[in-house]
Amino acid sequence: MKVLDALNAATKPIVSLEITPPDKGRSIDELFVTLDHLMKYEPAFIDVTYHQPHVVYEERDGVIYRVPKRKKPGTVGICAAIKNRYGVEPVPHFICGGFTKFETEDALIDLHYLGITNILAIRGDPPPGHRTFIPEKEGHRYASELVHQIANMNRGIYLEELEDAEPTNFCIGVAGYPEKHYEAPSFEKDLQNLKHKVEQGAHYVITQMFFDFQVFKRFVEQARDMGITVPIIPGVKPLTRVNQLVSIPRNFYVSIPHHIVEAMEAAKTPDAARKVGIAKTVELCEQLLDFGVPGLHIYTMGRGNATAQVLHALLG
Ligand code: FAD
Repeated sequence: MKVLDALNAATKPIVSLEITPPDKGRSIDELFVTLDHLMKYEPAFIDVTYHQPHVVYEERDGVIYRVPKRKKPGTVGICAAIKNRYGVEPVPHFICGGFTKFETEDALIDLHYLGITNILAIRGDPPPGHRTFIPEKEGHRYASELVHQIANMNRGIYLEELEDAEPTNFCIGVAGYPEKHYEAPSFEKDLQNLKHKVEQGAHYVITQMFFDFQVFKRFVEQARDMGITVPIIPGVKPLTRVNQLVSIPRNFYVSIPHHIVEAMEAAKTPDAARKVGIAKTVELCEQLLDFGVPGLHIYTMGRGNATAQVLHALLG
């Protein structure tokens, strides 16, 4: 089922999960153990992140070779495995970085043949060790261009003229930033760019993590004022460790309210800090549910226990 159909059919807010492929060389079984444990919360869909390789140059026998090294391959395979094993809709993340539009088209055809009908269309982060996003020569610079290509394929429009081409059938999600994307000059400009993604054909928005309900509320209200009418699903990251109070703002360009920082820092043991973090996450989710969000999208990041604790507190 497409994400949009699931949202429309739901009589209560849906739960969805986001997972990351294991590091290359690790077993997929660890991921299955996490997901087995979370299935009782009946996720409507499971997002699987996509990671661009970073390129290194290696010299062998006096010749310099360009070697792409991908730490976390397997997004599409994991999606197929999720569909097979759990019958739950997988949502592969699909990025602009590292793809020409021709490679994008072929990869989309693969997903279509696999029966995958959901995609989260994003630009992608710069590869590890790089600060700036650089598109491929014939690739997309912004997620809106990728959305446009997918929406075109949904209309049967491919890069070359094809007679009676079969349209694809993708439901397209995009990313939104309640605290603005770190490169955007202003919150308003970022929202205009989000609106443009929706105008290009995005069906719903999933947000970056945030830790302050008021930040999300302001984002949704301003998005609605600007004419963005599609569902906006909040992304929630359970807090479990004091060191996340520094690593999360550094890695994701988001802030953590002082009352959470104070409470977690005051905890006497790692266990006590974890309890505080989970309680604060549950509190945020309750505020979001009271506000009427269409669903909760939980960033598990390989930590199924924290996700299970939050969902248990909310759903029993
Ligand atoms: P865009 O929408 O293209 O926006 C990027 C920047 O460009 C923004 O500042 C925007 O305001 C600006 N912009 C957009 N259009 C224009 C325009 N026409 N002119 C000028 N400026 C413009 N990264 C991964 O590598 N893999 C993942 O699996 C992944 N999953 C994610 C899932 C979610 C829910 C979220 C929120 C993020 C995810 N990311 C992932 C991170 C994401 O790739 C980065 O945040 C990236 O820097 C931006 O992606 P985007 O799709 O929001 O980009």
